[in-house]
Amino acid sequence: MKVLLIGSGGREHALAWKLAQSPLLTKLYAAPGNPGIAEEAELVSLNVEDHAAVIAFCQKQAIDFVVVGPEAPLVAGLADDLRAAGFVVFGPSKAAAQLEGSKGFTKDICARYNIPTGAYQRFTAAEPAKAYIRKQGAPIVVKADGLAAGKGVTVAMTIDEALAAVDDCFAGAFGAAGAEVIVEAYLDGEEASFFCLSDGKTALALATAQDHKRVGDGDTGPNTGGMGAYSPAPVMTQDMVQRTMKEIIEPTIRGMAESGYPFTGVFFAGLMITAKGPELIEYNVRFGDPECQVLMMRLKSDLLPILYAASTGTLDQVSAEWCDEPALTVVMASKGYPGAYDKATPITHLPQARDGAKVFHAGTALKEGHLVATGGRVLNLTATASTVAEAQAKAYKLVDEVRWENGFCRRDIGWRALNRG
Ligand code: AMP
Repeated sequence: MKVLLIGSGGREHALAWKLAQSPLLTKLYAAPGNPGIAEEAELVSLNVEDHAAVIAFCQKQAIDFVVVGPEAPLVAGLADDLRAAGFVVFGPSKAAAQLEGSKGFTKDICARYNIPTGAYQRFTAAEPAKAYIRKQGAPIVVKADGLAAGKGVTVAMTIDEALAAVDDCFAGAFGAAGAEVIVEAYLDGEEASFFCLSDGKTALALATAQDHKRVGDGDTGPNTGGMGAYSPAPVMTQDMVQRTMKEIIEPTIRGMAESGYPFTGVFFAGLMITAKGPELIEYNVRFGDPECQVLMMRLKSDLLPILYAASTGTLDQVSAEWCDEPALTVVMASKGYPGAYDKATPITHLPQARDGAKVFHAGTALKEGHLVATGGRVLNLTATASTVAEAQAKAYKLVDEVRWENGFCRRDIGWRALNRG
């Protein structure tokens, strides 16, 4: 099978690494890729925003299967355009991507299908939203409806904070994403991510993970794209997994199909495990980054036929086997991230991959033959071991071997799992 992988982050490096191990693969291309992905695939300098160019490439190379990693091309409808041109594509349609793109859309599916989530109302004007907040009291959560780069959510501990968040949204703080506001009940508990595949009819549970969004140790400082993750999430016991499938995932897949937007591809539920059980916070319509890196380290099965089955309505014919051992990844980022940072700083040494340990590239590039950091999040030092503590030690050993003066990382990835003892 000739496969084209779209994307250039750590997530896509992990996908490329797994796809390249498949006996079914004859050729792997990646666009635009990065120097890590180049070890697994032939890089193609395609502008993935130019859908006609991507289609022309697929026709010329007789590509059998396209795997789309990031959300931006999905939201831009790349999967739809490729499908219309006759290609088999892993990734949801633009319409199904609303599951991430509109919080109100997802909340309405939850309401219709009795999926546990915080009680909510949708508003298009400030005054009714404020009246609702005053009636409900704090803590309470205010969200811009659309995609706001992770910044559209205010978990308000006081009524005044919530009222101010409503004003910010309607004043345009999040652009078009804030034209509608969701006010929702505050959920108390521990968060976990639950990854699944769907072919539009069937859902296949993959694995669970927890990530660290804040930039600083102890979960302090501003939010980022993710500074580290581990899998599985200890809070997701077998009972919680079964309840999540039955109460949240399966009704969602049914709801999407019945609404005329069958979901194909990977998605993950952001869950809050409350005293009552799992409740849905939000959906994402892609693999998380860096969660994908720890998932791929734990996946024993061949990834290619599983992704292909999700894209061809045959998911009920495959299964996914996982290593019991946990995996943990530490993100190294450019100093200054998530604010401004220097570009093209030299990385003079990277550790070699070894048993149960792997360096995934995210924001790297080659400049005159030398490896440089070009992005905010740059390297993912990833390890598996028999305990989270050992996986953590192994990942930080890799970190300590990296020679990159402008890099930094958190030193406490996995603390929540470790504190559970
Ligand atoms: P979201 O973009 O919807 O994932 O929200 C970002 C973060 O806000 C989540 O990861 C949670 O930590 C927090 N959050 C969102 N909704 C709620 C809620 N209803 N109750 C408590 N925390 C929430």
